[in-house]
Amino acid sequence: MQNLGKDLARAASVLKAGGLVAMPTETVYGLAANAFDEAAVARIFEAKNRPHFDPLIVHLPDWNEVGRVASSIHPEAHLLWNALGPAPITYVLPKRPEVPDLVTSGLDHVAVRIPKLKLARELLTLAGVPAAAPSANPFGFVSPTTAQHVADQLGEQVDYILDGGPCEVGLESTIIAWPNGPAVVLRLGGTTLEQLSGILGYLPEVRNSSSSPSAPGMLQAHYAPGKPLRLVPQGFAWAGEQGNEIQSLPWMPAKGIARALTTSGSPVEAAQRLFGELRAFAASEARELWIELAPEEGLGRAINDRLRRAAHCGEE
Ligand code: AMP
Ligand code: MG
Repeated sequence: MQNLGKDLARAASVLKAGGLVAMPTETVYGLAANAFDEAAVARIFEAKNRPHFDPLIVHLPDWNEVGRVASSIHPEAHLLWNALGPAPITYVLPKRPEVPDLVTSGLDHVAVRIPKLKLARELLTLAGVPAAAPSANPFGFVSPTTAQHVADQLGEQVDYILDGGPCEVGLESTIIAWPNGPAVVLRLGGTTLEQLSGILGYLPEVRNSSSSPSAPGMLQAHYAPGKPLRLVPQGFAWAGEQGNEIQSLPWMPAKGIARALTTSGSPVEAAQRLFGELRAFAASEARELWIELAPEEGLGRAINDRLRRAAHCGEE
């Protein structure tokens, strides 16, 4: 039976009935289940081989539904929503008791997101249930940015893969929380620090490490292609290809090198392509990938965060 396609009604009925749906979003593909159905949520953890201490983000079609899972909304969350609307941003808010502990790993807060991709919001509206959805990849691996990526790795375990084309952003959402006063970014992502500080009027602290108990699951070794990655500094002097064993991926086209992460240095383009490139390297014969870091600003910060985590894993 073909379980990959563009049948929105089928995806919605699977989700509603307690099945697993790969859901396209503007960030990456999510592995979605009804957040109120504990058995359905348990299947997400099984399919991904994800440890239970790593909580899930709950997706809703609109801001006016946030009250279904959150018991209150921080005023700065309202402020950000009013300025950004549906965007690659996840808000950590006090949770309602109806949200199963499995979704939040027993925390008293729930992470909530309203995706920007219209197809995702249509799916959530049609299904009529909030969807708990982590990225649709085996735990620790690179996130999927096409329906085929999901099929390649989790195909058998997903009831339906809704194909929404390649992801526009290509990086996960930025996670923001208010643990004790000012906003804190728990994960860099598709909404930039510059955007956030422009709206909030201050630069939120980035508490982006695995050591932080408020960001469970932000493990250092993550987004891994399974082979060594060497990060070279922005502006590295590339000197042509280095044979078949080592693949080279400069930030911008470089003389004598077949590939580059961007055509003209756009971090938006780099973000869209990053995970696809890591997958291509994983599937290639090459033993090692040398990849140039992005300029440390805007989306470049999130790109570098993913690269550092991916490289950390490859060092083993
Ligand atoms: P992902 O697999 O990309 O969907 O990862 C979801 C991430 O969101 C988790 O690894 C956590 O870092 C973060 N997260 C989810 N729920 C919470 C929560 N209640 N409090 C803090 N962080 C959360
Ligand atoms: Mg993930």
